[in-house]
Order: sequence, then C-alpha cells, then structure tokens
Amino acid sequence: KNGDVVTERNVHTLCDESFPLCMKILQFHLQRDNHLRNGGRFQYTLFLKAIGLPLSNSMFFWKMHFRKRVSEEVFVRRYSYHIRHAYGLEGKMADYPPQNCAEILKGTPGPLEYHGCPFKVLDQDRLIDVLKRSGLKIEACQDILNLSANGSPQNACARYFEMTQGETYPHPTVVHPNDYYDASRNIKRR
Ligand code: SF4
Repeated sequence: KNGDVVTERNVHTLCDESFPLCMKILQFHLQRDNHLRNGGRFQYTLFLKAIGLPLSNSMFFWKMHFRKRVSEEVFVRRYSYHIRHAYGLEGKMADYPPQNCAEILKGTPGPLEYHGCPFKVLDQDRLIDVLKRSGLKIEACQDILNLSANGSPQNACARYFEMTQGETYPHPTVVHPNDYYDASRNIKRR
C-alpha cells in the first residue's frame, strides 16, 4: 500500500530499516532459530501481510526458515495451513487484519516465545540487549528504559522510532505497528 514491493528476499532489509521493535524481535528469532511458536507466527504473518507480502511469498518466506529444521512434509502439515488461514483461505475464511498495539500488548509470551510488546514484557536487562542490537547506545536510551519501566510502552516505542529514524514520530503515540512501518517508509522515501 505504500509503494514498496515486498518479497521473501527483502523482508530482512525492510526489517532493519523500518520495523518496530516487536517485529524486529520476531525476525531476529526466526533467523536465529528457524522457528517461531504460534503467537509469534500469528503476529508476524499478519504484520507482513499488511506491509504487502503476498501469500505465495509468505509461504516461501516461512518455508525458507522452517525447512532448515523440519521436512517439507512436516512444514506443509503443521505450518502452511496457518499461513493460508491468516490470509483468509482456510477455516472461517476471514481476512484477518494485522494486530494493533492494544492487541499485541495483551500478549504474555511464555518460554521460547517472542510475541507481545517488548517495551512491556522484557525486563530491563533484556530490553537493553535488544536496544543494543538495534545499534543504539545505552547511555542515550534512558528515556526508553524509564518509559518502559513506568508502564508507557507505546511512548517508549515512539521514542525508539525517534532514535532509530532520526525524526519525531508523526503521531502522539504508537497505536499500530503498521502505522509505525508506514511512517518510517515515508521518511526513507524522501
Ligand atoms: Fe510493537 Fe506497538 Fe509495542 Fe511498538 S508499542 S513495539 S508497535 S506493540
């Protein structure tokens, strides 16, 4: 919808440039572990669909990672249904919209799960690790850490936008990860 052609080949580049932290974390673990559990797959599949990743490319994308761990047969049996489901081609045939921040903030990831909002679910040490992974200097991140610790995850996210994109977030706060992505692409396109 914003003019970028999105395929399985450029997701990681777009991620580095423009994804909010909740999605960067899912991409990181997918690349590292070649696996995401159900909550993460659901959150990430819908986000990627909404930035313009077509179903056939989504299949390639997930398969590219999962096939490093499971056979083609297991991928098709266990995982392809869920991808088709997210695109409205299975089950209720509902064309699910991407999750907004309010929905993501309800996520309570268990062990080996990485969905949810990092500014809410990560403790300070883990948050520091992921901020460093984004190339930020921790001395400059005190605001983000304070907002996160004080129960203002969406304001922490807006501050993260500002620090990684070099401009103030164009709305009072972050309410949707796809709005965050669109705001970043608008900056990159200039
Ligand atoms: Fe993602 Fe929203 Fe949390 Fe930002 S505030 S990290 S977009 S869930």
